[in-house]
Amino acid sequence: MTDIEIPSEQWAQVVEKSGGPVVYKKIPVKKPSPDEVLINVKYSGVCHTDLHAMMGDWPLPTKLPLVGGHEGAGVVVAKGELVKDVEIGDHAGLKWLNGSCLACSFCMQADEPLCPHALLSGYTVDGSFQQYAIAKAAHVARIPKECDLDAVAPVLCAGITVYKSLKESGARPGQHVAIVGAGGGLGSMAIQYARAMGLRVIGIDGGEEKGQSCKSLGAEVYVDFTSSADIVRDVKAATPDGLGPHAVLLLAVSEKPFQQATEYIRSRGTVVCIGLPAGAYLKAPVFDTVVRMISIKGSYVGNRQDTQEALDFFKRGMIKVPYKTVGLSELQDVYKLMQKGKIVGRYVVDTSR
Ligand code: NAD
Ligand code: ZN
Ligand code: ZN
Repeated sequence: MTDIEIPSEQWAQVVEKSGGPVVYKKIPVKKPSPDEVLINVKYSGVCHTDLHAMMGDWPLPTKLPLVGGHEGAGVVVAKGELVKDVEIGDHAGLKWLNGSCLACSFCMQADEPLCPHALLSGYTVDGSFQQYAIAKAAHVARIPKECDLDAVAPVLCAGITVYKSLKESGARPGQHVAIVGAGGGLGSMAIQYARAMGLRVIGIDGGEEKGQSCKSLGAEVYVDFTSSADIVRDVKAATPDGLGPHAVLLLAVSEKPFQQATEYIRSRGTVVCIGLPAGAYLKAPVFDTVVRMISIKGSYVGNRQDTQEALDFFKRGMIKVPYKTVGLSELQDVYKLMQKGKIVGRYVVDTSR
């Protein structure tokens, strides 16, 4: 099937029990089924979802033992006999949506993230924190050869997700969008995609370092939730007429901002929930929601078309987000920083060390 030499064993970070930590060890390399490809993952972004998965934060159980990771960029080294449109040597990305049935009513309408049979990388199937990962060929991201595999890795979840959520927000060029959690991995990407789409950005996060990063990525105003005496007032004041932003992207990993957003969203505006803090609930006053005609919705990763569009923005040089590269062996240290909210932008792990 291929001339590329594929080892029988590889390095991986494995979650052996819910709550972690990850264990760096050698595990077998699997063979792709007829409709799958094997990707030699070079780099993988570390998403907060990987930490939620390890900690068992959500009401959906993970597989165990689990190899996390779903921002894996690499090279296709083997493929099943049914795979016709991906070649050995192609650059490809392993995404959160590892596979879907392609036949249900959601898949039929390109809402494949909603597929009841969806396979989730680094959650229900093994993901990209290993050197060789498997994905359904229909769903792998086709990464253009001119994109650096380390820089593009965070696009594969963070980029796709925020690009899709900006489309879902309905915000139009020239309008204002508030990005909550703007200094984190999704947030940094969101600022850049919003700018590329002609939107004006109000970034909300905590601390000076994140503020500087938000400004340098293109936020016109930064509101620091750790020092602002009145976030609602500050966010509204950041729009020229004081009536608040047209859209809010909620990317934070705590519940409070999910309760606050309807207070500063502009009438007729849309609040888009993306972050998934453990055990959190949404609460909004019915009166205001009705008489100010506020929309509140969720947005969940993106489909195959969103993936290729998000990658195209990147390929054209419009998305530049800070990232730090460390060895795959250092993943647990990345989780420690993430837990403390100390990461500006994204960490990317290099699977060769
Ligand atoms: P991250 O840790 O890199 O960023 C989260 C940011 O939120 C941090 O910068 C933190 O300082 C900030 N924050 C915390 N409390 C805040 C508050 N009260 N106000 C403003 N900012 C606050 O995480 P990430 O990788 O960007 O992921 C963010 C969330 O999005 C996670 O819950 C993740 O699981 C979720 N996610 C959802 C989807 C989806 O499809 N909906 C996809 C990917 C990730
Ligand atoms: Zn993710
Ligand atoms: Zn389906």
